[in-house]
Amino acid sequence: MFDNKESRTSLSELGEFGLIDHLTKFFDIKQTSTKIGIGDDAAVLNFENDEVVITTDMLVEGVHFDLSFMPLKHLGYKAIMVNLSDVYAMNAEATQVTVSIAASNRFPVEALEELYAGILLASKTYNIDVVGGDTTSSTSGLVISITAIGRAKKEAITTRSGAKPNDLLVVTGDLGAAYMGLQVLEREKQVFKVNPNSQPDLEPYTYIVERQLKPEARKDIPGLLKALEVQPTSMIDISDGLSSEIIHLCKNSKVGANLFEEKIPLDPAVISVCEEFNIDSTTVSLSGGEDYELLFTIDQKDFEKIKANPNLTVIGHMTEEHEGMHLITRANQKIPIQSRGWNSFTDAKDEE
Ligand code: ADP
Ligand code: MG
Repeated sequence: MFDNKESRTSLSELGEFGLIDHLTKFFDIKQTSTKIGIGDDAAVLNFENDEVVITTDMLVEGVHFDLSFMPLKHLGYKAIMVNLSDVYAMNAEATQVTVSIAASNRFPVEALEELYAGILLASKTYNIDVVGGDTTSSTSGLVISITAIGRAKKEAITTRSGAKPNDLLVVTGDLGAAYMGLQVLEREKQVFKVNPNSQPDLEPYTYIVERQLKPEARKDIPGLLKALEVQPTSMIDISDGLSSEIIHLCKNSKVGANLFEEKIPLDPAVISVCEEFNIDSTTVSLSGGEDYELLFTIDQKDFEKIKANPNLTVIGHMTEEHEGMHLITRANQKIPIQSRGWNSFTDAKDEE
């Protein structure tokens, strides 16, 4: 989906170096830790006494995104968010990224300009420097690989493995919206196939479609926790769905968990669209992915510090490992939590 349909300049017209210059000319340096950015053989960073956090994610056309409803500018923005979310999940501050792309000739320069407009917007909004990357051709489709770099004090770094029995399980924001946004977009795509003149009315779905197309990573949370003087005992970002992230925390920390269905935060828009699609909203929050919220555990003594914050919801607590991982339903039934990632979601629905 290229918004700029007027002009099409082929990639070969600019050449590799021309293309890199063209795409990266608007990036400036904002972080004091960036000593050398784009343009040399390598970037140079200096974090003085902080620890350095590094994470990489690759997005492949047809596997991770569908350009028939994903505008390239949103894709660029989202690709950065996916990576920053992993940095924030270490309780660190994101500072730099590198961006590598492989594109086939099907993509004109104007398409990559849109992709980079999204990357530029994300880098400004999140105050990060783009300090390098690589540009190459592909025989089919578009591949984007981003590496994000961040910094944190050694004591602040939060892994998946520090949760203890009786710690409280806390989630930021609300869940399930990105998955339901995708359901609406997929439905509109099918309608469009049958009737190309149909104009989708996405107005009632603004929030959930935006959560799918333009997710925001929780940059605010490491700072908020610091201000509240809360050091989480473990943390992970929610990319695949609540249940698989709880399983990751439990397995890595060697604990069990009780999750309370009635506590799971859902936006009213998610509840109503779940009714419309006849899907159980709890299943969506457990198994739908891409919310990019943070899930963490805290010692019970810290409950008073977080309880009044509207961004944070206590959804359960950790238990001894042998007690296992359970969802306590509204009807007070105890159901084992199973890993149902993004891909297995359709199968999971069929089982019900
Ligand atoms: P080299 O051949 O030494 O790898 P390149 O010509 O590939 O150098 O890249 C030149 C500079 O542009 C380097 O600083 C590199 O990190 C940066 N760069 C290349 N491609 C991209 C890209 N897609 N986005 C951002 N920076 C890039
Ligand atoms: Mg290179």
